[in-house]
Amino acid sequence: MRTTSRHRAAARITAAIAAMSLVSACADTGGDSGSAENYPDRNITFIVPFSAGGPTDTVTRLLAEPMAKDLGTKIVVQNVEGAGGTLGAGEVARAESDGYTVLMHHIGMSTAPALYQNLGYAPLEDFETVGLVTEVPMTVVARKDFAPATLQELVSHVKANAGTVTLANAGIGAASHLCGLLFQAATGVQLQEVPYQGTGPALTDLVGGQVDFMCDQTTNTSGQISAGQVKAYAVTTPERVQSLPDLPTTAEAGMPELQVSVWHGLYVPAGTPQEIVQKLSDALQKALTDQGVIDQMAKLGTAPVTAQDATPQAHRAHLDEQLKTWAKIIADAGVKAS
Ligand code: ASP
Repeated sequence: MRTTSRHRAAARITAAIAAMSLVSACADTGGDSGSAENYPDRNITFIVPFSAGGPTDTVTRLLAEPMAKDLGTKIVVQNVEGAGGTLGAGEVARAESDGYTVLMHHIGMSTAPALYQNLGYAPLEDFETVGLVTEVPMTVVARKDFAPATLQELVSHVKANAGTVTLANAGIGAASHLCGLLFQAATGVQLQEVPYQGTGPALTDLVGGQVDFMCDQTTNTSGQISAGQVKAYAVTTPERVQSLPDLPTTAEAGMPELQVSVWHGLYVPAGTPQEIVQKLSDALQKALTDQGVIDQMAKLGTAPVTAQDATPQAHRAHLDEQLKTWAKIIADAGVKAS
């Protein structure tokens, strides 16, 4: 994980967002499903807290196949979308602590507690971390007939047309929302935000011309950028993405403060037996070294984390650090879900 670039990005976000005010268990040792030793002896459900076809969904489905093979069972992917990913996360927090309900979530796990007053779960208390998965760059993309040709032109355009330009996101606390906040803070313009239950449907509307622009992970936008179905302005990381070599970074395009990348991790409910958490983590680590997964991630502008980062311990430490970082950023910015 690129800790230093992440910290730099967080610092920029703090400074930029603060400049404007936008309102925008105890252990259950496996229930009746049998012992940790026999785990898994039935299908596992992976909950994706955003819509099907979006970036979180894509990463989940990519991993589900090799993990299922390794665990010797089926993995069923279920989308429980809404409220910036908090509905799906809440469902997993309340699930049996038996390892059969697993959550794939992203950076939103660390932003939600500061944004939502009645979240209904606490990331560190109500979940066991299984391991980090990947860190994905975002892109700034627009409908293909949107007038601005470059990021600088986009800035001038939104300044001149703030009342009419629409910005899509996947709900409060979603990565697209955070990136959109950053964009608005950098430009000093408050835009009309259009929330979706995931950036899968948001991208469909962008391609269809129903919304003007948005930020989204390369795991969702790469195909549409390469096919010319959307207009791409920049990638939000310090370096260019190998699979999109012509796309400038936000710094190259004149907006260095727009930097954010999206880390993902797997979770099970608190109290899940450690042997089960370890079995899942081992399967995750193996899946992340699968050549098919590596190749597919590379095509989508990302890469698996190291085996060391795909452990429960590294994931917990990262979540802990990110919760503190985002609590401060969000408190300074005065942003709330409602
Ligand atoms: N990319 C979305 C976000 O803004 C989430 C998703 O649809 O996977 O966080």
